[in-house]
Amino acid sequence: MSSLKVQRCFNHANREAVARCAQCGNFFCRECVTEHAGRMTCARCLGRPADTARSFRFRSILTGVMQLGIGLLILWFCFFMAGRGLLLIPSSFHEGHIWRLFEEHP
Ligand SMILES: [Zn+2]
Ligand SMILES: [Zn+2]
Repeated sequence: MSSLKVQRCFNHANREAVARCAQCGNFFCRECVTEHAGRMTCARCLGRPADTARSFRFRSILTGVMQLGIGLLILWFCFFMAGRGLLLIPSSFHEGHIWRLFEEHP
């Protein structure tokens, strides 16, 4: 009769529940529930948000790194093209100057 009133663990039907999960509201035994930030939380609820947060953080870092890489690539390309453009003009000047010097002093 009294066994009906006793809450059983959500994971273990033969175990008596000692705490209720603050997130999902299910009853759990001492083994299945853990205290997290002052609240009794089951392993499933404790793992779920942490995993999504971790994956989201990892994804944001990955996109950040990719954006940084693309940005650096564009920056490098701009510098490369600018450098090439700047190098082409003085080199032609130098060549002309050198040729003129050679002509003056053989
Ligand atoms: Zn839960
Ligand atoms: Zn349990």
